[in-house]
Amino acid sequence: MNANTVSSADALARENEDLKSRLRALTSEAAHNEVLLKRTQDRELSLLRADSLAQLLHAMVDGLKDSYALDAVSVALLDPQHEIRHLLIAGGDRPEEFNQVLFVDSLVGLAPQFTALHRPWLGPFVAADHHLLFSHAHDLQSIALLPLPRKDRVTGALCFGSRDAARFTRHHATDFLSHLGALGAVCVENATNRARLMRAGITDFLTGWHNRRYLQQRLKEEISRAQRQHSSVACLMMDIDRFKNINDGYGHLAGDNALKEVALRVESQIRSMDTAARFGGDELAIVLPGANAADAAKLAERIREHVAATPITLTSQVQRVLTLSVGVAAIAPSRHETDMKPLADRLLADADAALYRAKALGRNRVQIGAG
Ligand code: GH3
Ligand code: MG
Repeated sequence: MNANTVSSADALARENEDLKSRLRALTSEAAHNEVLLKRTQDRELSLLRADSLAQLLHAMVDGLKDSYALDAVSVALLDPQHEIRHLLIAGGDRPEEFNQVLFVDSLVGLAPQFTALHRPWLGPFVAADHHLLFSHAHDLQSIALLPLPRKDRVTGALCFGSRDAARFTRHHATDFLSHLGALGAVCVENATNRARLMRAGITDFLTGWHNRRYLQQRLKEEISRAQRQHSSVACLMMDIDRFKNINDGYGHLAGDNALKEVALRVESQIRSMDTAARFGGDELAIVLPGANAADAAKLAERIREHVAATPITLTSQVQRVLTLSVGVAAIAPSRHETDMKPLADRLLADADAALYRAKALGRNRVQIGAG
C-alpha cells in the first residue's frame, strides 16, 4: 500500500464519519420537527374540537399557553352587543371567570398596535402600551399580537407574552402565527354560531326562560342524578287563571307583558339550581332538584302568594291582580330504574293532573299530585 492509497482511505473514512454524523443530526432534527408539528396539530385540533364557547376559550388561553410554553396568553374579543357574554351565561358559564379574556367594544385603545393590526405584530413588551392586554402577567419581555380575522374584519386578537426578550422579535417569521390567528377566528365564529343555535332551540323568546323541549331533557338528567344521589326531584306545573280574559279585554300585547311580569315574579322566588321553563301558552313549569313534594308545595304556595300580592300593570290605565293555579309532584327514583323518560313523563303528568284539580277546585290554589 503506498502513501497515496493510505491518505485516500483516511479521507474516505473521515468523509464517512462526517456523513454519518450529519445524518444523525438530520434525523434528530426531523424527529424534533415531527414533535413540533404533532404538537401544533394537536393544539389546532383542540381548538377545532372545542364544542362550546367556554371550552374554546380555555383551549385558547390555557391550552396554547401550555403547549407553546408561554408566560401569558390573553384573548381580546370584539363583543359590542354583549352577545358572546350572554351566550356564555346561557351555557352556564360566567364571563367574568375568564379573566384572560377581554370582551371589548373596540380593539383600538387596548394597545397602539391595534389601530392597524392586519398581520401578527411581534416585538418588545412595553408596560405603558400593553398592560391592559396582560394585566395578570409579570416581567414580560416580548409579545406577539395575532389578529383574529373574519372576512374583511378583525374580530379580536390572540396575545402571547414571554419573559424571554428574544422569543418574539420583528425578525421572526409570522406565517405560522397568521395561520393560528385565522384558525382561532374561525373557531370563535363556529362556537358562537353553535351557541346561538343551541340557545334558539331551547329558549322561549317571550320570557327568556327555557322551553318545553329543554325542560323535558333536563328533567331526565335531574331524575338520573337523583337516582345516583338517592335523592328526589319535584316539579311544579303552573297556569295563569283566566288568562284569556286579559287577551280578550286588553289585547295580545298587554297579555304578553302580563305573562312576562308573572314569569319575573315566579323567578324571583326560586333558587339558582332550579330550572324554570315556559311549558306552553300561559303554562309555566319549575324543576326542583333535591326537593320532595312537601318542600315543593311550600315553594308553590310562596310563589302563588307573591304573584297575587300586587296588581300587574296591563295598560297605562289598567292594573289587575293575576293568580296562578299550581300542581305539585315529586319522584324519588329507585335504583332499579334504567329508563328515565317514562319517569320524567309520569312526573309531568302527575303535576299536570294536580294542576287540573287546582283549576277544578276554584283556581288560585296549590294541589299536590300522586307520587
Ligand atoms: P284557565 O284558568 O282555565 O287556565 O283559563 P285561561 O283563560 O287561562 O285558559 P287557558 O289557560 O286555556 O288559555 C290560555 C290563553 O293564553 C289562550 C291563549 O290564547 C293565550 N296565550 C298563549 N300564549 C300566549 C302568548 O304568548 N301571549 C299572549 N298574549 N297570550 C297567549
Ligand atoms: Mg290559563
